[in-house]
Amino acid sequence: MGESKVKCELVNGHKWGPKAHLSALNNDVTELIQKSQDAKKFAYCPYSKFRVGAALLADDGTVFTGCNVENASYTLGICAERNAMSKAISEGYRNFKAIAIASDLCDQFISPCGGCRQFMREFGVDWKVYMSKPDGTYILMSVEELLPVSFGPEDLKIHGAQDLKINGSKHLEINGGLHTK
Ligand SMILES: [Zn+2]
Repeated sequence: MGESKVKCELVNGHKWGPKAHLSALNNDVTELIQKSQDAKKFAYCPYSKFRVGAALLADDGTVFTGCNVENASYTLGICAERNAMSKAISEGYRNFKAIAIASDLCDQFISPCGGCRQFMREFGVDWKVYMSKPDGTYILMSVEELLPVSFGPEDLKIHGAQDLKINGSKHLEINGGLHTK
């Protein structure tokens, strides 16, 4: 517990993480975290009562938000991170700079589940994940750091998901088809 508090002080508004690598994005971090906290307010979580919000920053500066949405059929519930990403992808975005995640946990930084890490990894390993607390402090890690030695689209010998084009009919087109060479 004590260690957690020390970390909280260390990262308050500063770079931190196993490999801290904030860049020009720094000024936008507070705003991105604020948007994830705003999104958390819409969480539909009557079963877990565990609110989560996410704010995803696309490469052109557009931000997509998401919250967790649970269901009486429990396994149908979806995480905030995947909701935000699905919103972005369904509007034609596939290149992301960062995602901020917020919860109500005060004594630890919210961390994305394994499923969400894999979902993020589909769209590259070199982008930033800000795991925050309600007070706005955060830990920064890359997707690569959160999911090392990962399996992704490249392993299927197709182009990375970021390179997949959307054709006129808005269907995925990979080298003219969905098959590998
Ligand atoms: Zn998740």
